[in-house]
Amino acid sequence: MSSKKRSSKNLKIGTRITISAVVGILVPVMILIAFSSVFQNFMASYFGFATVTTNEYSAVNQLQWSQTITSISDELVSDSKEESKVKKINEFVTPLEKLGSVIYIEKDGAEFYATTSKKDITDIADSIVKTDTHTNVNYFGENGMVIVNHAQSDTDKYTLIIANKDYTVNDVSKRFAPQNITHLLFSRTGIIILLIASVFIIAIIIISFITSKTISKPLRELSYGANEIANGNLDYVIDYDSTNEIGVTVKSFNHMTDQLKQLTERQQTIEQSRKEMIAGVAHDLRTPLTSVKGYVEGLRDGIANTPEKQELYLKTIYTSTLNMERLLDELLTVSRLELGNIELDCKPININDFLDDCADELLVELSQHDFDFEYNNNCDSDFTLMLDTERFQRVIHNIISNSLKYAKKDVRGKIELNAQTYQKSVIISLADNGIGIEGENLTKIFETFYRADPARTKTSEGSGIGLSVARQIVELHGGKIWATGKEGKGLTVLISMPRTEENND
Ligand code: ADP
Repeated sequence: MSSKKRSSKNLKIGTRITISAVVGILVPVMILIAFSSVFQNFMASYFGFATVTTNEYSAVNQLQWSQTITSISDELVSDSKEESKVKKINEFVTPLEKLGSVIYIEKDGAEFYATTSKKDITDIADSIVKTDTHTNVNYFGENGMVIVNHAQSDTDKYTLIIANKDYTVNDVSKRFAPQNITHLLFSRTGIIILLIASVFIIAIIIISFITSKTISKPLRELSYGANEIANGNLDYVIDYDSTNEIGVTVKSFNHMTDQLKQLTERQQTIEQSRKEMIAGVAHDLRTPLTSVKGYVEGLRDGIANTPEKQELYLKTIYTSTLNMERLLDELLTVSRLELGNIELDCKPININDFLDDCADELLVELSQHDFDFEYNNNCDSDFTLMLDTERFQRVIHNIISNSLKYAKKDVRGKIELNAQTYQKSVIISLADNGIGIEGENLTKIFETFYRADPARTKTSEGSGIGLSVARQIVELHGGKIWATGKEGKGLTVLISMPRTEENND
């Protein structure tokens, strides 16, 4: 059973199509043949075409006779006037006469309608089969046919006699004799049937072949493409342009390959960034470590022999350790964020309170770096948002420290803090007048380990972590972060944060 199932499953598409096409034609033809007599019957009674047309015995002929006799009897016992009855009967009888039948109708013992005398018809009928005109007769034999039918109305009694010597009943065995079949095959009808059948079969084969080709070719290509991709060739594109189901599948397949390629490339870039970052972090750790080592040696060997020198040495050692701590701290934060190990400690905060505090601190910090600072606050006084202030300050700090790092050497630095509230959110922007960044990299700067300038020597402090940390903290708050600007024209980082639900209501 299961092997049968499997073998039908393994049928080639072409074979499948041919089988379904042949079955699709054969089944209706067989149903038509099986129900042909029922069909004819239905047609005969429905359309009333029951007129005897041949003198040869067949199912249709019997049907025609029975319809004709019923129609004549119905007419005889109807309420119509005599003349109209005769006229009507004449219509029924004329085709019978043409086929050599004789008819005699008697009404209450007297002749009512006749194509011959009573004696003649009884003689003819008797010569065909022994006939008693008082009983109903329904005889169809090789030597002729005889029908005697009695009909009775409320007032009158009718006897209908029909006889035909020319009537024939073919021997069924003869009809299907081999010579007759060959005769049929080579007759004009046979040749036409054979021709139609051949045309049908050839058409089925051609259509099946073309259809299977159009299906199996792209399927073969799909399978080839899948193998190519499995072997790592992500540049493989299946060339099949169609809007049909296979075309849609091929399109999805090509799209999938494209996505896979992009993902792989992205992962390769990230992997490359990670490698660069490890090298960079190692370098960044090594620089302060070497200086710490040098100054500790200086202290140990008594090179710092004055209290001022010792003070300077210790200060430098302290700054270097701070730098190392900051770097390690950043690394720890980013790994915890990426692992989802950080939970925010959010409280409802008034945006103005938070920004005013930030602005105060920035003013002090930036003046130490000889930077100008501008603060424009257009926030509603009652706008509150859920904020983990400590972490959000980290976001601001990371953005500002970038503005300091990527400032132009020959221009006095400037940072603008702007804020504007809307119905459901607040947008905070931090704009600098630094070196800026190429437009196409504006979205990438928020990816972990992304650095627009891989030559770490230029900006020794970068590790490609700061903005990624900022993005992850903002997103944890349900906000969004993005950047605008042009290379050489400064960078603006924008943050959109949602208003707290209660205030919304
Ligand atoms: P990094 O530690 O390298 O600064 P960030 O994640 O903070 O890492 O920033 C990623 C990259 O985005 C930086 O390497 C730099 O190329 C670019 N970038 C960030 N901020 C600025 C800015 N204000 N001006 C110009 N480029 C910037």
